[in-house]
Amino acid sequence: MALRRWKAALSASALLTATGGLVATATTPATAIPTESHCGTEASGSGNNGFVNHAQLTTALERIERTTGGVVDVEVAGQSNQGRDIYLARVGEGDAVVFVQSQIHGNEMHGTEALLALLQQWGGNSPEAQAIREQVTIVAIPRLNVDGGERDTRQNEMTWADVVADFPQLAGVQPAWNYNSRVGGFDVNRDFNPDLDYVPQPADFPGNSADTGWYITPEAQTVREVYRDLENEFGTVDYFIDLHNQWSCYATEDLENMSPLSISAKFIDDPSEFGDWPKFDMDASKRANVAVYEALQGHGESGYGDLTLYPQDTNLPGTALGSFALRGSAVVLFETSSQTQYDGMKRNGMLRKQIEIGLAGLVESVADGSIASLDPAAYDEIPQRVFLPED
Ligand SMILES: [Zn+2]
Repeated sequence: MALRRWKAALSASALLTATGGLVATATTPATAIPTESHCGTEASGSGNNGFVNHAQLTTALERIERTTGGVVDVEVAGQSNQGRDIYLARVGEGDAVVFVQSQIHGNEMHGTEALLALLQQWGGNSPEAQAIREQVTIVAIPRLNVDGGERDTRQNEMTWADVVADFPQLAGVQPAWNYNSRVGGFDVNRDFNPDLDYVPQPADFPGNSADTGWYITPEAQTVREVYRDLENEFGTVDYFIDLHNQWSCYATEDLENMSPLSISAKFIDDPSEFGDWPKFDMDASKRANVAVYEALQGHGESGYGDLTLYPQDTNLPGTALGSFALRGSAVVLFETSSQTQYDGMKRNGMLRKQIEIGLAGLVESVADGSIASLDPAAYDEIPQRVFLPED
């Protein structure tokens, strides 16, 4: 969409607010972005009605396993703090392993829908799917934060008292910095540590965003055990991809178009700050991001090609991406435009599809080996993400 048309869309959105109120406000938690700064939302639906809830996710995964004749194997990897099952789907027998998760932030839903479609596709009978399965093993957690998904919050559903009950050595300690006492939950994506055997120490709390996390949440613990098992099986978890959503008001560097997706390879400033991690490979992460970027080019006026780079001054060792990059995984962050509680359903088809195209392209380039010949320097040429202020 050209910027001029974006401004027109903004006016239309504001008009909606003035006349009837955005439908999304009915389900918006207290962290709502002021409606006057909405941009490009074109809200036409309400809440999360277009996304699977936990019961529907369960049914969808059972159906995928059944209709693929078990080619896609679905199991329970663990339980959330509220006792919901966290699912793990596996397809393929190849030597290269791609581990992908969605919705570590419960209100970021598009990646889960994309994974359901991709699992069905990868488990299918097409020659392309069979070729991928020969070369690649894909392991997916669709919707890690199943509790946050049910109540539409970024955080999981867990109090600090729950943590102290699990780790009595933390009694009397100031709660972790990523605990939100109003919501009663943690930003699970700050709970990771490159040391999979780390045990929470009182002196390491409350911590901060520039330091590692603790595996105090059952959700992060579940991912850790999946990752550990894959390392034991494959040696290195070759690729780790994390599917998120971001605020929708970003444009491409030339301000010509809205950017429906930002990606990134970079989560660690200085690997040596966190110990000795000899398998950390920034170039491998850059190549994986280039594979995603290139897969989304050449789709005409669809907007798929307008993806941008997430800020590169990021230093977040407590994220899954940061911790697993230190352990040697090539990592890719997907930040799809729009938080579900702010936007309507109109754009969801396109937003889901671009994740499918980008992720499928990455897997294909791993399967056919072409990823090895991609130039890491091409990563640095991807346009920057530009924040759009209110019009
Ligand atoms: Zn997120």
